[in-house]
Formats: sequence, C-alpha cells, structure tokens
Amino acid sequence: DRPPRFPRKFIHLSDGDRSPIRVMQWNILAQALGEGLDGFVQCPLEALSWSRRKYLILEEILTYRPHILCLQEVDHYYDTLKPVLVGLGYSSNFCPKPWSPCLDVEGNNGPDGCALFFDQSRFKLLESVNIRLSAMRIPTNQVAVVMMLRCRSTGRCLCVAVTHLKARSGWEWLRSAQGSDLLRHLQNLVQKHCGGPAGDTSPDVPLLICGDFNAVPAEEVYRRFITSPLGLDSAYKKLSQDGSTEPEYTTWKIRPTGECCTTLDYIWYSKDMLRVDAVLDMPTEEQIGPNRLPSFSYPSDHLSLVSDFSFKAKQ
Ligand code: NDP
Ligand code: CA
Repeated sequence: DRPPRFPRKFIHLSDGDRSPIRVMQWNILAQALGEGLDGFVQCPLEALSWSRRKYLILEEILTYRPHILCLQEVDHYYDTLKPVLVGLGYSSNFCPKPWSPCLDVEGNNGPDGCALFFDQSRFKLLESVNIRLSAMRIPTNQVAVVMMLRCRSTGRCLCVAVTHLKARSGWEWLRSAQGSDLLRHLQNLVQKHCGGPAGDTSPDVPLLICGDFNAVPAEEVYRRFITSPLGLDSAYKKLSQDGSTEPEYTTWKIRPTGECCTTLDYIWYSKDMLRVDAVLDMPTEEQIGPNRLPSFSYPSDHLSLVSDFSFKAKQ
C-alpha cells in the first residue's frame, strides 16, 4: 500500500504535431549513492531499497513512454534498465563515470553513469559516442553520451546528448568548463554529419541536450548554453507564466545539512529547428509532501522532466 505517484499534467503550447518526439530527462538516483552516501534523513531506508525503487523508476518511464530517454546516476544498467527497455523496443548506450563514487559504497552494483535510450521504431542510430568531459584539456570525472539519430518518418537528423556535470558549490568553474567542452563536441559532431559548410556555426541538425547540470540558472554554465552560437533554449521555461523563467525546483530533498530545493536539470533544444509542443508540469509542494524526495511515492530526489518536440519546417 503505497501512496499514488504524482498526478502531473501536460501543458500544451501549440496545436502541435500529431506525433511529437517525447523526451524525458531524469536523474534516477544511483542505488549505491541513495543508500550509502546521500544522507536523505527524512526518507525511510525501506523506500530506498532497490527492490521497491526499480518498479517506481520503470513505472515513471512507462507512464510517459518517451521516444528519447536521458538518465543520470544509472548504476543498474546491465542488470535492469537495459534488458527491460530493450524488451520494450528501445536501443541504448551507457557511459560509466571513470571514478564513480558508487564504488566507495559497500555492496555497490558498479559505477554510475549516463544512459541514453531511444525508441527504435522512431529513430535509426547513425552514430553513438561516449565522451569524458575535459576542463582546460584535463580529463574530468564527468561524462556524456551523444547520439546522432535519424527520424524514420521525416528522414531528419537529430543530435541527442545526456550529461551529468560535477556536483556541489565551489565547482561552478568546472561545470562551466565541462559545459563548454560538451558544446564543442556537439558542434563538431553536427558539422561532421548532416551539417552545413565548414565554419558554419549553425548547421541544420537540431540538438537536444538533457542533463543534471548541477547548476542553477544564475550560473555561468547556464549562460554559456543560452548564449551559445548553437541557438539553444531551455524547454522548461515554457511552464512559466512569462515563458522565460525556469521552474522553482527540479530537485527537493532533506539532508543533515538542511533542505535543498533547487533547479539543476534541463532539456536544451535548438530553438530555430525544434518547436516545444508540450511540457509536463511539476508536482506541487503539497504533492511532494513534508519529507520531500525521495519517498515511497517517488524513487529519486530529482523529478523527471518530460517534453514533446516537433521539427520546424526548414527555412
Ligand atoms: P560529484 O561531486 O559530482 O558528486 C557525485 C555524486 O554525489 C553526484 O551524483 C551528486 O548527486 C551527489 N551529491 C551531491 N551533493 C551531495 C551531498 N551533499 N551529499 C551526498 N552526495 C551528494 O562527484 P565526483 O564525480 O567528483 O566524484 C567524487 C567522488 O568520486 C570522490 O568522493 C571519490 O570517492 C571518487 N573519486 C575517486 C577518484 C580516484 O582517483 N579514486 C578520483 C575522482 C573521484 P547530484 O548530481 O544529484 O547532486
Ligand atoms: Ca544525486
């Protein structure tokens, strides 16, 4: 007998495509970190067990059935997520962190990392690259998975990336450098594939970049993405009244150091080539409840972001 999951509604922004591309961004909380290192003092240990959490994670994914699924803190890829989702028609790639903190937890299930899944009936894989992000040419402990996909119905290319930037305060400069490195990789990749002439800063391959950036909107890495020559915008701003403000929170938890309610997760998209058709609203404070996340109702301290996109007509 567990409380029902959050009732969330899609906010529709346009008449939209009859068959939009649905994208989910979600830091699912690594099993080893949740049980071993995170210190979620208001969450019963029982609610943190993998035997409970795995069903809630799969339920969340299956409720929305995204065509593109971008996950962070995946430490049950080979034994759970990949086999289940392959059986549902997804294809995927996983990139573990080089020195995952999960490995410091007794009884861990291996390193955590980023995983990217796509619906094989909707997309054909052209290329997949695992990237270890660098900062000033020095390799860091953060990674990204990038895929070049071709939409089977429209024939159009789409470049999708998932990443999880360095956590905690004091590392703003590192997140900024990691973000810049990812943008550089993406720029090179879109140019190589279906891109325009060399030197053209805006080839006609739309980008979707999902991540736990561990950065609030006021941080430098956010500004780097907003002002990038790749023409990116953040989909969840569309939830706000004025259309230009990020949600109040994408993660909400209580640690021994106190409550943490903040916006760290984003879905970036090429604003000239993709249209946001819908965004899934956020649960309210009341729905999340006094003990915040994770809980018996929700398996992660981060909320999923789900958004529908369609290709804009080529100019
Ligand atoms: P990060 O600082 O990026 O954080 C790792 C995880 O900790 C994230 O998933 C993050 O979750 C979570 N986290 C954030 N804040 C807190 C908090 N206050 N309390 C508990 N957990 C938190 O990790 P790094 O990738 O830099 O790795 C750090 C660890 O990796 C080291 O402690 C070490 O164990 C290991 N390491 C080992 C090396 C070696 O040479 N052996 C080299 C480098 C690292 P979220 O994103 O949701 O906030
Ligand atoms: Ca975490």
